[in-house]
Amino acid sequence: MIFEQGPIRPPSEAESLLLRFTRNCPWNKCLFCGTYSDEAFSRRTVVEIKRDVDTVSHILDRIRERSFRMGFGGEIKRDVLADIHREGNHLFIHVASWAFRGGRTVFIQDANSLVMKTAELVEALRYLKEKLPTVERITSYARSATLVRKSRQELEEIGGAGLNRIHVGMESGSDAVLRFMQKGVTSRDHIEAGRRVVEAGISLSEYVLLGLGGRLWSEEHPLETARVLNEINPHFIRLRTLAVPEETPLYHKLVCGEFTEQTEDEIVAGERLMIEKLEGIDSQVVSDHMLNLLEEVQGKLPEQKEYIISVMDRYLSMPEKDRVNFRMGKRWGQYRSLDHMNDPQRYQRVEALVRSLEAGGKLDGTLSSLRAHMI
Ligand code: SF4
Repeated sequence: MIFEQGPIRPPSEAESLLLRFTRNCPWNKCLFCGTYSDEAFSRRTVVEIKRDVDTVSHILDRIRERSFRMGFGGEIKRDVLADIHREGNHLFIHVASWAFRGGRTVFIQDANSLVMKTAELVEALRYLKEKLPTVERITSYARSATLVRKSRQELEEIGGAGLNRIHVGMESGSDAVLRFMQKGVTSRDHIEAGRRVVEAGISLSEYVLLGLGGRLWSEEHPLETARVLNEINPHFIRLRTLAVPEETPLYHKLVCGEFTEQTEDEIVAGERLMIEKLEGIDSQVVSDHMLNLLEEVQGKLPEQKEYIISVMDRYLSMPEKDRVNFRMGKRWGQYRSLDHMNDPQRYQRVEALVRSLEAGGKLDGTLSSLRAHMI
């Protein structure tokens, strides 16, 4: 019994059932993205998707039968889960883990499920809800360029069929940055798409890619991103930080000098500028990726705006030696927050590494390479 799954999901969907409605990315041109670079986009038919939903349902039945045999009355208890783990079938483990946590959330893959015809998407969603009745939240990635081609009525229909959360990779609100990065959308598309999703009653997350403006657009990127976010007022603003692994087209731009990365301190300064300019909105700012230097940059706007800014000010006002120590500790996995630096043992451990790398002239290279490999 198998069903198809794609390669990635947002961190916030770690507990969700993953189901693939389309394969890979229909755009696949963004310079900073290597996720689907070698993979061609393809659609799946509603019949194929329904078959996968049926397979999940059958797997659930098998797991419940096992629970009965083990004396747990069909409930998926920890012992049942452990038994499934021992067998090592990763799809059974995935479904059992999902059901163990209540089976409430589903993430539909891959990069842009909204590219499906509305009628087909609605049919697939309704089937999913019917066959897996514990599901309360269904989430998908979507491109703004696709969303602007759906009317508000279509989005309401899609929302009504069960898709109640959409994650948009906004990345930047600057048209210059979007153009350079070949995002295939404009700031106007982002605003129109975002507003339409919110008006349709669907929860909207906008992903912002910190540092995407590089040195050239170091101010325009945060200022324009704040402007666009202010126009949309999404439910969530989710922060990511740019990393440029070798397999991305952006790496080649970096090597030939067409793009210059910002330092981590410059990125934090840009992040601060963007947050400072967010006004008149009540979004939740979320930092849910290890790549973000300051994971504590989180909170509800406007009431926690001051706190969010204070986190960045705290970092930026530290002496250079401590900022280097924090960056290394964070990238090395010793720190998750600025407070972790107050632990003398951790601090000294990180400091010893910093000194030895400095002595060998390898500090900057190690920091960049650790960052690039955290994607
Ligand atoms: S639209 Fe998303 S998945 Fe597709 S290339 Fe751009 S960033 Fe990557």
